[in-house]
Amino acid sequence: MSLDSVLAHIDADQDKAQDRLLDLLRIQSISTDSAYKEECDKAADWLVQDLESLGFDASKRPTPGHPMVIGHQDGDGIHVTFYGHYDVQPVDPLELWDNPPFEPAIEDTPNGKVIRGRGSSDDKGQLMTFLEACRAWKAVTGSLPVKVSIFFEGEEESGSPSLVPFLKENAEELKSDITLICDTGMVTPKTPSIVTMLRGLVGQQVTITGPSKDLHSGMFGGPARNPIRVLNKALAALHDDDGAVTLPGFYDGVPELPEQVAEQWRNLDWSAESFLGDVGLSVPAGEKDRSAIEQIWSRPTCDVNGIWGGYTGEGSKTVIPSQAHAKVSFRLVGTQDPHKIRAAFQDHIRTHLPADCSVDFIDYGAAPASNMEINHPAFEAARTALSDEWENDGVYVGCGGSIPIAGHFQKILGTESMLIGFGQDDDQIHSPNEKYDLRSFHKGIRSWARILDSLSRNAG
Ligand SMILES: [Zn+2]
Repeated sequence: MSLDSVLAHIDADQDKAQDRLLDLLRIQSISTDSAYKEECDKAADWLVQDLESLGFDASKRPTPGHPMVIGHQDGDGIHVTFYGHYDVQPVDPLELWDNPPFEPAIEDTPNGKVIRGRGSSDDKGQLMTFLEACRAWKAVTGSLPVKVSIFFEGEEESGSPSLVPFLKENAEELKSDITLICDTGMVTPKTPSIVTMLRGLVGQQVTITGPSKDLHSGMFGGPARNPIRVLNKALAALHDDDGAVTLPGFYDGVPELPEQVAEQWRNLDWSAESFLGDVGLSVPAGEKDRSAIEQIWSRPTCDVNGIWGGYTGEGSKTVIPSQAHAKVSFRLVGTQDPHKIRAAFQDHIRTHLPADCSVDFIDYGAAPASNMEINHPAFEAARTALSDEWENDGVYVGCGGSIPIAGHFQKILGTESMLIGFGQDDDQIHSPNEKYDLRSFHKGIRSWARILDSLSRNAG
């Protein structure tokens, strides 16, 4: 049957696949630094050429920033769009790299062979897993098992300024049944993961003003209101003794986990001890009666990210400051409304204001959480395919951080996204000596070959 032949072809072609990835990694496509503009262009050209060699109708599309690369290829059944990004992070501090970041090499490590170089894991190695899977299908059967569109971005590492306008302008062309995003990792080295929950974010800066100027604490200490004390009291009251957030209505729209997902999480070989141990901690500090993994992936949180005021320099200064400041952020889940939460936070601060104090706020973003509709048949089709390839079954996981692209695809194109990636926790993305396990690369290619096959049979 053709899937077996495709997998065999992938195994036999592995050395050449590595060479192609090494080629792409030599291009210095740092998107944030305009000195590398031509290199970004070169990476886009390289991809257009590779897509054309695979039979895609491919083109480089200009934007005010770096170009997008788009490709289309007909096939039967479900239409998928694959997303990846060809730009990479800057490389400094350069002196911490063992080898030059754009002279990638295959290296033996105690945990197996890796390919080391900037972009190897984030995201060139990952996007090539998909192209290599397409290459194998084309070589063995002459066609792809489903209809495929490709969307490669060149500004992901510099804030994606052109992404939303481009999606809006080309919405008709870019619409498909489902988006596959390959820019995430695996929950353990043997457990393939589909991210279905991404937390949203609300950011606020708060400034409380008391006296009209800084005061001497000997002359004014006592009668003068200290805004640091006012701010601390208000911030301390954001959580109760069980780690829950106290803002009225904060948990509106926070769903309980589907039992299918809760079960997968209970069975993960993931431990809070080692997760916290890696950062010098031992006891989960979030909501009581929620596991650490729930606290990160499926529960909303509030954190004070910075707090300042008065004198913070060397030595001491007996000052009662005029102002106190803090930066506070919330991670959101489910259908929590970021604007309501911002309003509830501001109300909370105002109700804690005593006489003679005033407050000002600065808004820093308000994005709701993204939740993928896992009832779409493509999800189980992909999860089954991943389970067939890896030691452990595929799991639906959350992601504590934000990946805005999934929300944009949902909102602008109306398609769900499956975030499937093969990165590992120790890939050192964004850091010196970035690497991608060759095992992840190889099994990632095989995974996509299986997923395309499974989608053609189960999600049409
Ligand atoms: Zn990335």
